[in-house]
Amino acid sequence: MTLLAVQSLSKSFGGVVAAQDVDFALERGEMLALIGPNGAGKSTVFNMIGGQLRSDHGQVLLDGQDITAISPQARFRRGVGRTFQVAQAFLSMSVAENVQMALVSRARESRALWSPARKRHREEALMLLDRVGMADAADRPCSALAYGDVKRVELAIALAGQPKLLLMDEPTAGMAPRERAALMDLTASIAASEGIGVLFTEHDMDVVFGHAGRVLVLLRGRIIASGAPDEIRSNPDVQQAYLGDDHALAQPTGAEAP
Ligand code: ADP
Ligand code: MG
Repeated sequence: MTLLAVQSLSKSFGGVVAAQDVDFALERGEMLALIGPNGAGKSTVFNMIGGQLRSDHGQVLLDGQDITAISPQARFRRGVGRTFQVAQAFLSMSVAENVQMALVSRARESRALWSPARKRHREEALMLLDRVGMADAADRPCSALAYGDVKRVELAIALAGQPKLLLMDEPTAGMAPRERAALMDLTASIAASEGIGVLFTEHDMDVVFGHAGRVLVLLRGRIIASGAPDEIRSNPDVQQAYLGDDHALAQPTGAEAP
């Protein structure tokens, strides 16, 4: 069965149509990029899937079950995960403790049990950190990590929720190009091996065309194209949509302007 089905999802803010009849499906293990110029409606679509934003109409189905009307917490428990920035408050905690907190919250253990909770789930946290290549840094404070490593910890925290679907809104923002590719390689390998469907937005076209299995293009709230990265890159409607935008669809290599 299809993991995620988005049907006729629409949202307006006053006179601004942020999403209009957005329709798409996402399968297990698939890396699906949602791209479009600034203001196209990407975050709006994300937030309607995550439940942070209520749609005007349309449906979101996870494993065939309608989750359109349920809270973000209820969606999380059904397997809708997303990456969040490690909060300032948690930077002083160790890498492992941050992941342990996520495991505590998945298990819905009381925050009042904070202190013992810090000791629980250590082994599982270490396994998740190993999955993202951060086991060696388990006992370092998050504040001491390089930015790219913090992003790996954020991925481990998201995986602690055992998502079926992982939503990543601009996961590589602020990262250097090489770190971006590494993070998305890692994400793709975990998605494939664990059968997690990943929906991500991304400004860096090298990341989009290098890591997405399929690409959806949003323009003024509507999907104007959908297909394999190569099809999307050569689609005239897509090129038109990006004209004058600062995120032009660059060719992968050697395509420097004369
Ligand atoms: P993207 O993530 O693709 O840059 P957004 O989904 O953030 O686009 O925004 C789509 C459109 O909806 C934009 O015109 C934006 O100004 C508008 N918008 C988004 N969120 C709100 C909001 N909470 N209130 C009013 N307008 C909003
Ligand atoms: Mg956005």
